[in-house]
Amino acid sequence: MLVDYHTHNYLCKHADGTIEDYIQHAVAIGLHEIGISDHSPMPDHWDGEVRMNEEQFWNEYKPAVFALQEKYKDNIKVKFGLEGDFFPGTEQWVKEFLSKNEFDYVLGSVHYLGEWGFDNPIFVHRYEEQDIDSVYELYYEHIKKSAQCRLFDIISHCDLVKKFGHRPTKNMEELLRETFKVVKDSNMAVEINTSGLRKPIKEQYPSEKILAILSELKIPLTLGSDAHTPEDVGRDFGLAKEFIEKYGNGRISLFTKRQRSEVKVS
Ligand SMILES: [Zn+2]
Ligand SMILES: [Zn+2]
Repeated sequence: MLVDYHTHNYLCKHADGTIEDYIQHAVAIGLHEIGISDHSPMPDHWDGEVRMNEEQFWNEYKPAVFALQEKYKDNIKVKFGLEGDFFPGTEQWVKEFLSKNEFDYVLGSVHYLGEWGFDNPIFVHRYEEQDIDSVYELYYEHIKKSAQCRLFDIISHCDLVKKFGHRPTKNMEELLRETFKVVKDSNMAVEINTSGLRKPIKEQYPSEKILAILSELKIPLTLGSDAHTPEDVGRDFGLAKEFIEKYGNGRISLFTKRQRSEVKVS
């Protein structure tokens, strides 16, 4: 069984292709499930340049996913997902938004440290203005809180802060251990996200060092390409499968209506 639980589409304004294009690619490469997980709207249209707004969610995204689930039901399982944002102060809004929808799963992502969209290439210069160790500490503090808020099912790209190649000078082992213990206590899964291989860091999220910690803590794993173009669905899953074997006991998590189950990866 092989699934891709992290895909985008044109609605977020920084990805190409319709939802159907992504599904067709998933069918073509023989995936068993594809999760549609575009960026969630945020309150008051915040950061609307890189995400759909609420009207689009209700009028386009949601109906399209359900229509396509039905259309492709003999070929592939289409899951209704979302990439949510952990942004302190918006928790109540997110909680209400999620409760109005029967998602199969919600990815929990940290894309902002304060107002700084630290994974956005247009703000990359801001890494040079700060102490990288402190950026990492703040980032993992956010990951921890994103687990503690219990709004999400899966921690996505859990070491995204490395995206542009900035590495901490301090040993982060203890901080990582502490962070992922909280993730474990929150009963979440962690995604192996292959998009890092296509970014300056040229490494999947998370690193093998973190994967070893996840394995030790018996944290379940899922798989996502974070495709922003249909051809990237399932990209580098050969490598990801090796990591699932090595660090996830050969098993991946599936989600239906926010209930987790496990299957053998193949
Ligand atoms: Zn993301
Ligand atoms: Zn994403």
